[in-house]
Amino acid sequence: MTTPADRIADALGRCRHVLLLNHVSPDGDCLGSTLALARALSTRGQRATVGSADGVPEVYRFLPGADGIRRELPDDAAYDAVVFMECSTPDRAGALAARAAAVPLWVNIDHHLNNGGFGHLIAYDATAAAVAELVHPIVRRLAPGPDRQTATCLLCALLTDTGSFRYPAVTQRTLTIAADLVGQGAHPSEVYARVYENRPATTLRLLGQALGRLRLSPDGRVAWTVVTQAMLGETGAAMEESEGIVGALRAIAGVDVAMLFKEDPDGIRVSLRARGAVSANAIAEAFGGGGHAAAAGFTGRGTLDEVVRQTLEVVERELRTAAAS
Ligand code: AMP
Ligand code: MN
Repeated sequence: MTTPADRIADALGRCRHVLLLNHVSPDGDCLGSTLALARALSTRGQRATVGSADGVPEVYRFLPGADGIRRELPDDAAYDAVVFMECSTPDRAGALAARAAAVPLWVNIDHHLNNGGFGHLIAYDATAAAVAELVHPIVRRLAPGPDRQTATCLLCALLTDTGSFRYPAVTQRTLTIAADLVGQGAHPSEVYARVYENRPATTLRLLGQALGRLRLSPDGRVAWTVVTQAMLGETGAAMEESEGIVGALRAIAGVDVAMLFKEDPDGIRVSLRARGAVSANAIAEAFGGGGHAAAAGFTGRGTLDEVVRQTLEVVERELRTAAAS
């Protein structure tokens, strides 16, 4: 029986030039996964171009191949296939999504709850702890030989999307794949150190400011804080350095929903984390975003205070729904 992964590997294996697109605000999972797949294709002598409309955050520049990721694509390039990595809809690829229009084969690989099921070939599994779990069998079929650099990309994807293998979505499959990657020469402690123990001091100063502005709902179940442009100015941090803040709020006892509101030029980007029966995805969907039950996000319209107020209303509703179910 052929699996979706087999069909995708076989189709991509016949292409001359494949375009691989990351989502906006790319994370370790989509970047590691697109780079691993691109590398598998190039070791076979095929061309692969990785695009990321928002570039590559500093913490992920150590990934093998990251310096070849493009923010813009040449007008005259012709691709036989385009891979959308973790894009619930094509527009999640941001400004690069338009480049897919002329590409004859669309491949959709995702593990988010709200994926629209677009594309000609789909590898979709919302139970996967990271999209790398879905990419691993494709890479292994395309390039069966061990490759330490490909394995490092996939291990970074698994490690970062699972909170270093701590989240409830981690399964035997996650760890079996991790074991295969370690067998190919990837080192969990090295990847961990590159991502989490290599931060500029500005990241910690921003975390300090954000924690100083921590707010809690009266019942203690909702924790939130903000990152404003003024805070970035004072600390010298870039917005991408806010990645770990919402996770820190999850550490508070009794908190079921943690939120970070980021004041970006294009709107208020909201990061949500939830525990237990509460669905972060349901909250994000109310504002046109999405994600997983435990982690989701959306871009809010309005001032920072307005978006905070609107979101708190929806969170209260979601807490009541979760209590009733
Ligand atoms: P973040 O808070 O940016 O780490 O995002 C948490 C999860 O939600 C990730 O899996 C994101 O890909 C997803 N996510 C964030 N924003 C959106 C959005 N606007 N639409 C769909 N998914 C999103
Ligand atoms: Mn992911």
